[in-house]
Amino acid sequence: RTFHNRNSVDDKGMTLYSIIHVTRNGQPMENAFWSGKVMCYGDGGVYFKPLAGGLDVAAHEMTHGVTQYTANLEYRDQSGALNESISDVFGAMVDSANWTMGEQIIKDRSSFPTGALRDFVDPHNGGTPGSQSWQPAKMSEFVNTTQDNGGVHINSGIPNHAFYLVARDLGRPKAARIWYGALSNYLTRSSQFIDARIATVKAATDLYGATAPEVQSVKNAWDAVEVYDGSGTPPPPTTKPQGTEWILVTNTDPNDPNSLYMAKTTIQSTSDYFPLSRTIVFNRPAVSDNGQIVVFVDGDYNLRALYTNPQNPQETLLDTSGVWWSVALGPGLSSLALTSKFVDTTIYYFDLLHKQAKIFKIVTQSFDAPDARTALYADALSFDPSGQFLLFDAFNEIRGSIGDTIRFWNINLLNIATGQMGSVFPPLGGDLSIGNPAFSKTSPTRFTFDYWSRSLNVDYVLAADFNTGNVGTVAGPLMVLGYPTYSADDRTIAYHTLINYQSANHDAIQKMPLQADMITGTGSAETHSIDAAFPVWFVIGTRVGVDEPAPNVPQRVMLYQNYPNPFNPTTTIRYSIPSFGLVTLKVYNVLGQEVRTLVNEQLPPGNYQVQFDALDLVSGVYFYRLQVGKYSEVMRMLVVK
Ligand SMILES: [Zn+2]
Repeated sequence: RTFHNRNSVDDKGMTLYSIIHVTRNGQPMENAFWSGKVMCYGDGGVYFKPLAGGLDVAAHEMTHGVTQYTANLEYRDQSGALNESISDVFGAMVDSANWTMGEQIIKDRSSFPTGALRDFVDPHNGGTPGSQSWQPAKMSEFVNTTQDNGGVHINSGIPNHAFYLVARDLGRPKAARIWYGALSNYLTRSSQFIDARIATVKAATDLYGATAPEVQSVKNAWDAVEVYDGSGTPPPPTTKPQGTEWILVTNTDPNDPNSLYMAKTTIQSTSDYFPLSRTIVFNRPAVSDNGQIVVFVDGDYNLRALYTNPQNPQETLLDTSGVWWSVALGPGLSSLALTSKFVDTTIYYFDLLHKQAKIFKIVTQSFDAPDARTALYADALSFDPSGQFLLFDAFNEIRGSIGDTIRFWNINLLNIATGQMGSVFPPLGGDLSIGNPAFSKTSPTRFTFDYWSRSLNVDYVLAADFNTGNVGTVAGPLMVLGYPTYSADDRTIAYHTLINYQSANHDAIQKMPLQADMITGTGSAETHSIDAAFPVWFVIGTRVGVDEPAPNVPQRVMLYQNYPNPFNPTTTIRYSIPSFGLVTLKVYNVLGQEVRTLVNEQLPPGNYQVQFDALDLVSGVYFYRLQVGKYSEVMRMLVVK
């Protein structure tokens, strides 16, 4: 608090709870973890003594909390290894007598020959590659694995060692200030090691000036662990829908037999409403991304579909098993996600193109303990524009040993391809919850959601970018949940509220224009509909991607760091060109021999990406060179097999 001027993990004085003697399936637990809300320590067993006995272990777990409230680094692959490394770094700063982690809790010296869990000075820590104590010290030792969330506790050795080199050079206090500046100002959820290099260089520049020896020290340290200078990981690509905009509204006036209307986004008369159904609509319907199909759960928990054609809605029952609770539709009607009405940790996913079903068991992410589970069921679902990610909210319960129970809703992101899921936002204190997420229409990382207190009976509509962690207030306080929805251009959010009309409270839908950040309301809401709920803003038309004629022509030639890197065997290389010209992209080995031509053609201006498969190449450093006219740029990449 005095050193970094930070008040508790959330910087708002959050009360910290620790639970010791935590068990797993009734057995002593060989672990400690941060649950997103509570620190939990097991009693150890074969490998470890009680884990609460390690000062650096405690600081490590609390730092996961700080990371969650700042960069919120995604807990997988390189961003996950950075998350682990940040926890080790500040753990080592608190327990500053040495450069080892966990030296107070090791019981089993045969697995941990040095008596420590991890070592910043020598990440190999007395082990050999693949053994429990060993970590890589540089990128050529990087471990590609699917275990341990992609090696988050293994590859953290590389940024750990970089931090040690800076601290050895500048002293611990300066190194810690630089790393904290990078964590709180520059690192984002998707940051890779190259981004950590760029972030710490920026943080050192902020603190000491661009020409200061401190900045050079940071660069030298990253060079030493083979994380070389580059242009950073580009943000995910964006797309936008184009066509006629509508708002789907659910009628709440009991005197009106229609249940569902499609409405123009600006209402001038009752003829701007088009009735679609008289069936009871149980909760927020889903609309396909071409705007033509609505799917919803009815009052009997059956699944129904209809066309957004008021002359001929052709409503049909899709499934009559009477068990459904909520629904989302993937792009191009490629997929469907459902939850059931039971207390059920399952999300049911149907790949409609390949006629395959999958189930995903929801977990609320706990750091360092992948099998800790607090989520009971999911509710609201929303696919991103690619259909590869699903946002959902989940109800959680953490039971304490003395009958005290913490209950809350949180918002999670599911990667459909890998099944990986994680909280996009740290859980909040007290009875505060977040839920009802809905993706924006143009960004794959921006979404809107409800934020409420049950005891105070008050709700705010918020919006956030889960990559940057920026959050804005759209509207509130409201007396009901808002179920917010983004407009087609992400410049407006519509939400459910109560308004006083003819001396009584009525359900209503309001539209709030947003500021330029697209996450903060302007404060001047406009009422769209009265006696209406569950707005869904949709577009009848098509989605325009960045691979089609680029809406934003790049200003200059850009060659980005490949992702993932290191890789085995495939990676993606992205580049941008500002004008029409002959483009070549070639791969060379360290001897300068050309091993592959990836691109060799005339291309129009735009943003491009190309896959590179190194299946037939040996492990090692390779270079890729982009040539556009007279301009060329070279980056390096690493194959690790
Ligand atoms: Zn950890």
